[in-house]
Amino acid sequence: MNIHEYQAKELMQARGVAVPQGAVARTVEEAVAAVRPLVEATGNPVVVLKSQIHAGGRGKGRFKEHPEVAGVNVITDGLKGGVRATEERVRELAKAMLGSTLVTVQTGESGKQVNRLYIEQGIDIGRELYLSVVLDRAVGRNVMMASTEGGVEIEEVAERSPEKILREHIDPLVGLANFQAARLAHGLGLTGDALKNGVRFMRALAKAAEELDTDMIEINPLVVTKQGQVMALDGKMSFDNNALFRHKMVAEMRDTSEEDPAELEASNYGLSFIKLDGTIGCLVNGAGLAMATMDIIKHVGGEPANFLDVGGGATTENVTAAFKIITKDPNVRGIFVNIFGGIMKCDTIANGVVEAVRQVGLEVPLVVRLEGTNVDLGKRIIDESGLNVVSAKDMKDGAQKIVELAK
Ligand code: ADP
Ligand code: MG
Repeated sequence: MNIHEYQAKELMQARGVAVPQGAVARTVEEAVAAVRPLVEATGNPVVVLKSQIHAGGRGKGRFKEHPEVAGVNVITDGLKGGVRATEERVRELAKAMLGSTLVTVQTGESGKQVNRLYIEQGIDIGRELYLSVVLDRAVGRNVMMASTEGGVEIEEVAERSPEKILREHIDPLVGLANFQAARLAHGLGLTGDALKNGVRFMRALAKAAEELDTDMIEINPLVVTKQGQVMALDGKMSFDNNALFRHKMVAEMRDTSEEDPAELEASNYGLSFIKLDGTIGCLVNGAGLAMATMDIIKHVGGEPANFLDVGGGATTENVTAAFKIITKDPNVRGIFVNIFGGIMKCDTIANGVVEAVRQVGLEVPLVVRLEGTNVDLGKRIIDESGLNVVSAKDMKDGAQKIVELAK
């Protein structure tokens, strides 16, 4: 699960990780009202208006409805016109941003609607660095990565100049040791107060990652101010869903409007569903069989439209829901139902498929391969339904048939 920047900063601040001051706003009035207290608290007339979406690249992003407005805006009007001028500028920008569609390199062409803004104190940036904590699955530990190339996509740095990425693995019992943080901070060229603050920042961040069960915390940029402070100017956090039950506060930060509608609906029915770009819809039970099904579809020259595991305990209702989610995708040219009934009975699947077709119709070819418990009953249900279904004798046969029919 991902959360917004302002939520990530709230979680970091509560754990001693330095962030600028700011306030979230869902309306224009809330945005305007946030300015004065912020300027008074910080003594800084510069404020920054930031779009809150689950995607980066906002600074260089532009709104579809207002191509002149960026996703992140540094407002300096207060320098000459006082707080009132800043408030007016915030009103103008917030009106344009809220409800509009922001397109960045990470959102794709369609962009994302901005429903929340973050009003943040303007920071006098000295240097922009990169810092993250990600789970290194190969080592089974979190790793802290640091780079002097702040503001740049880390994938780009990794490709162009991998030697510029510094790494320290974090012992889960000890945390990030002082010497490790110091090594990273030296590597980033920090000295004096910035060195001390950087070490403190890194250790607090490593601890936060451990405490919150994050998959990733990415601070890009991490800034060093002209006064030697070290702060998270941006913050992206994602969590291991399997650990969310331990973090009620984090679970409540979920913003379902940011999620793919089909994936969201699937999760409401307890289905594991991931949308892909191909044309063959797959309805499978068990994650292993689902992956094998995608492989075999590719092997015979097709492209899967989704990964879908209906799970072991699926009911007719779940299977109906799964079928509907697949048929809603306009790219789907054919559906392959591939079931090995162990715990999951073949007649349950058959009933679900028949029920779903009754409800939503069937406009594309359907190939069904059933095997396992109650297979004869399942086949009979499909045969007697009068549906236009092609049955397959095994997995490869089914994959070949559906790829052929979908052409
Ligand atoms: P994104 O990564 O989505 O583009 P960032 O939060 O990294 O968004 O902001 C983009 C840029 O905007 C930063 O690199 C920085 O130059 C500027 N910026 C962001 N927040 C502030 C702030 N509080 N004060 C000053 N400049 C900021
Ligand atoms: Mg950023």
